[in-house]
Amino acid sequence: MFFCFTFGIERFKRKSGHNVWHCPNCQAKDVYLIKGNQCFTFCFIPLIPVGGTKSLYECQTCNWVNVQQPNF
Ligand SMILES: [Zn+2]
Repeated sequence: MFFCFTFGIERFKRKSGHNVWHCPNCQAKDVYLIKGNQCFTFCFIPLIPVGGTKSLYECQTCNWVNVQQPNF
């Protein structure tokens, strides 16, 4: 028998919008606006969102992250 009673706080990220920017770190045009928030989970099911939603810009190629929009 397997019982799953796991609590946790998970961070969820999703791409927001369709805009793509150039990465100032690796020059790839692969920077997306990411909306992230944290959820309280039970048995890996997100139940309650905790904290506010954070917006940041993340490069999918080199994992460069910035809170400010790239210039180009
Ligand atoms: Zn990059």
